[in-house]
Amino acid sequence: MNRTFIDYYRCPESFANFTLIGEPSSNPGFFRFGENAVCYGSISPGFPAPEVGPNLYDALADVAIDGPSLLLPFDPVEVTENLRRERYLSDPHGDRKTTSLEGALSTAYRFVRPALPVAVRKHLHRLYLRGWEKLSFPHWPIDRTVDNLLETLLALTLKAHAVDRIPFIWFWPEGAPSCAILTHDVETLPGRNFCSRLMDLDDSVGIKSSFQIVPERRYAVPASFLSSLRDRGFEINIHDLNHDGHLFSNREVFLRRVERINAYGKEFAARGFRAGSLYRNPEWFGALDFAYDMSLPSVAHLDPQRGGCCTVLPFFIGRVLELPLTATQDYTLFHILNDYSIDLWKRQIALITENHGLASFIVHPDYVIQKRARNTYQALLAHLAQLRADGILWIALPRDVDRWWRERRQMSVVPEGNGWRIEGQGKERARLAFATLVDGKLEFTIEGQDTLKARRPASLASGRRR
Ligand SMILES: [Zn+2]
Repeated sequence: MNRTFIDYYRCPESFANFTLIGEPSSNPGFFRFGENAVCYGSISPGFPAPEVGPNLYDALADVAIDGPSLLLPFDPVEVTENLRRERYLSDPHGDRKTTSLEGALSTAYRFVRPALPVAVRKHLHRLYLRGWEKLSFPHWPIDRTVDNLLETLLALTLKAHAVDRIPFIWFWPEGAPSCAILTHDVETLPGRNFCSRLMDLDDSVGIKSSFQIVPERRYAVPASFLSSLRDRGFEINIHDLNHDGHLFSNREVFLRRVERINAYGKEFAARGFRAGSLYRNPEWFGALDFAYDMSLPSVAHLDPQRGGCCTVLPFFIGRVLELPLTATQDYTLFHILNDYSIDLWKRQIALITENHGLASFIVHPDYVIQKRARNTYQALLAHLAQLRADGILWIALPRDVDRWWRERRQMSVVPEGNGWRIEGQGKERARLAFATLVDGKLEFTIEGQDTLKARRPASLASGRRR
């Protein structure tokens, strides 16, 4: 019951004493856990609802404290997995129940995307996505449901143990308040041919990024192209197999294709994978022979496959680390929202950095060839570089985030004299942090750093409304 909590905070296990109150309901459904978390799973007592609505049962009132133990009306492992793996969707990764118009538009989205002129495509996409503003869950433009749920459990744990503070391992190396990764999915031949210009743009602000390459059918991938990326210190990952929209259409197709995908991963020395158009089924990720995946958006209202993993921090799906996509894609910004400013990106970055999360971007070389879009991208680069200069962001390659997150997972906080210290490989870069309650609100501090730099997490009481 405490596994997710321990993996998330890396606090000593002795602090996480969770017990289920009773027999959970046989039918999972939606309920609330305080103001900021719409949960999905089985609860006892209480009544989960089949759909998200304004009057969800709030299970927070059922939590009881028994000595150092928290008596919980649900299993946090089950509920966080339901959110992260999108099991809360009525038909998570199978065929959507669609009207024939929706079905036709969905097909259009999947299969004619690269072939049609942008003007036609964006019209189809807008039709397909219509009504997205009315979706209340996950929360747009970012969703932190899993993070809010775990923060509430941490605050309750502080109360249960009646301690001033609980030590844990800070989320990012060297006490960085938050992290950003920049990734480029290469869709077409013109995009491939623009990669060297794109590297120049990234290099102009000292940012290294990853390029996701489609290994089959879209364009030729000569060894000279791969080395032109690698030799400049950029990372290479695999993007789908041929990007035809069918990768996850059924298990048999997936397993057949994933063998080839894994082989390309070896050939390109790639550690990461991303599916075409972010079509996905996290339940099948076990077949991926990659260290990490980047196919899950935090909130996917504007992507061809809706849902979202409801967090802005990396998490493990089996042995695969998921680096969720937490910012709106460039194509969506330019062609669906018709926005060439970086206001939305800045808003998302602010929400993520204030909450020590991972800001992750997909910017396609294909969509920034035009000057207007390129200017927008350069404004984003300048903004990210400024945040890094201000000490707010660690800008890293995805493989470095993967390495850090794996090392952190193996570290532990152990008592030493009257205090605590961190044990495990890579501990030199890790920082001890403390969670405290200030006027009933959760606050984080990093040992040896002033509290401002650690940035306050969202308080339990003043989070956003859904
Ligand atoms: Zn793509």
